[in-house]
Amino acid sequence: MRLILLGPPGSGKGTQANLIEDNNSIPQLSTGSMLRDAVEAQTETGIKAKSAMDAGKLVSDYVVIAIVSERIDKPDCANGFILDGFPRTLPQADALGAMLDEKELKLDCVVELQVDDDALVERISGRFTCSECGEGYHDKYKLPAVSGKCDRCDSKEFMRRADDNAKTLHTRLQAYYKETAPLVGYYYAKGLLRGVNGMGDMDGIAEEIQTVLDKI
Ligand code: AMP
Repeated sequence: MRLILLGPPGSGKGTQANLIEDNNSIPQLSTGSMLRDAVEAQTETGIKAKSAMDAGKLVSDYVVIAIVSERIDKPDCANGFILDGFPRTLPQADALGAMLDEKELKLDCVVELQVDDDALVERISGRFTCSECGEGYHDKYKLPAVSGKCDRCDSKEFMRRADDNAKTLHTRLQAYYKETAPLVGYYYAKGLLRGVNGMGDMDGIAEEIQTVLDKI
């Protein structure tokens, strides 16, 4: 199964992609985390991407398209994948279509997570993760059970994304509405779009997504 998770920053794409990954045994391909890894490793791609990411702007299409094209050729993608954060522009969507055609693969579904704007700001400005295992937390909605200690791996190190701040978030939301939101119509016209209410609790949303996927 090959699917795209579409939605603004903070809509829960990463969280839901993790759950889909566990339930369906297909990898989550997050262009955001691939780019963050590249920035940390100071690769050529990372160096090119860093300033746009710091400002909350989109990285050039050609950089991201190259990363995805290379990644979906890896053996763990043989049975499918979940794209989280890609495509984010119409040229990226066209490029994805062309690369799948070339590889004789088909896209099965695009799940759009629908979330109110006010909730996005609150969700993003409070989120942090365990530096060791990546478990996600939130200042208001999900603190570790024992203060300062990760529920999953006991690590005491946590981190916040550099771009999860009010100023950058504004630019990221603008980029979403200007560049990414048109993909809703693009995939609707292709008959692939499935809207899911992203405002409920994490497990309820996961169930709703799974119901959609079970019908594919
Ligand atoms: P994310 O983790 O998906 O919120 O992505 C973090 C940042 O990485 C974004 O604000 C962009 O700067 C960059 N990025 C991730 N995916 C893409 C993409 N498909 N196209 C362009 N930039 C991207």
